[in-house]
Amino acid sequence: MLEKKEDRQFTIFWIHPTKGQLKRFHLSWSALLLGALVLVVGVGLGVGGVLWYQSRIKKELCLTMEKMEEAQRNAAVLEAQKKEQEEKLQQLAQETEAVIKELETLRELDEKVRGVLEKDLQSRFQKLGIDLSLSSVSVPSYIPLDRFLGEPYVPLGMGGPERLSSFSLVRDSPPPASSDQDLGFGRQAKALEDNLSWMRAETLARKKSLEEVVEVAQQRDRLLYVVPMRWPTWGRVSSNYGWRNDPFTGRRAWHTGVDIAAPTGRNVVATAEGKVVFTGWNGNYGRCVIVRHQFGYETVYGHLSKILVNTGEVVKKEQIIGQVGSTGRSTGPHLHYEVRRYGSVINPWPHLP
Ligand SMILES: [Zn+2]
Repeated sequence: MLEKKEDRQFTIFWIHPTKGQLKRFHLSWSALLLGALVLVVGVGLGVGGVLWYQSRIKKELCLTMEKMEEAQRNAAVLEAQKKEQEEKLQQLAQETEAVIKELETLRELDEKVRGVLEKDLQSRFQKLGIDLSLSSVSVPSYIPLDRFLGEPYVPLGMGGPERLSSFSLVRDSPPPASSDQDLGFGRQAKALEDNLSWMRAETLARKKSLEEVVEVAQQRDRLLYVVPMRWPTWGRVSSNYGWRNDPFTGRRAWHTGVDIAAPTGRNVVATAEGKVVFTGWNGNYGRCVIVRHQFGYETVYGHLSKILVNTGEVVKKEQIIGQVGSTGRSTGPHLHYEVRRYGSVINPWPHLP
């Protein structure tokens, strides 16, 4: 220690404020320098640390800001997408409404067609006691039961006109209410679903209706073929069905058919498909042909000059069976045409359209 006396020293005196003791500290230059160095390095480290921390915070802040901006951008995109989807849904709802209107027009047309067909059937067959009619003039839209039972929809098999028993008739089911501009996404989707459901039911109803119309129209064609429903020859009606003055006796007598005056040799045709059950001379009828048809009908063709079919032959509708003549109890060439049903003579006029 003594050798180091030459080292220049600082001496610090310190007096205790209350006890009055004097204390002395010696500090060498090298210690002072070391202390200063330690201080400078410490301060430098501290400042550096603060700066580094600050920059880190700043960086994180920037990152957070960027993320927030991105989130905002994403939200805007989502919002735009949502709006676009809502618009599409709206458009779709409007388009389905247009289809619904068309379907309603179809239903009106369907009802018209069914009405015309039914009227024809009534005027032709129902007054004859032949039961051919549509199930109803109007077919309302109906919704398959599965919609209520929650079971998967299985289309009915094709075939004859099925009765609507497997369906729940919704007689007063109007199309779903038109979609509102302000409807929310969920309600719009629901409205669209309702529209589609109604459209499906309505389409199915029209399909069933048309199938029935086709089948009944085909049956009508068949009936027109097998039930006497045309004139047997062309000419003037010279004597009507019913009471008349007998041309031979002058007395009132019941005439069992219509007389159609026509020249000898004019063709006489079968008024419907049937089986020839009589050919030959038949008393007052002269040369006569009798044809038996379905539904208990028979047609009688009298006073023929020529018979062109044989007993037991099946004749088509409009097939030539003979020629007009004046055989039997006749005052001149004419055809006596008679219609019988279940063995009794009936008024032929409903069979002469
Ligand atoms: Zn007659």
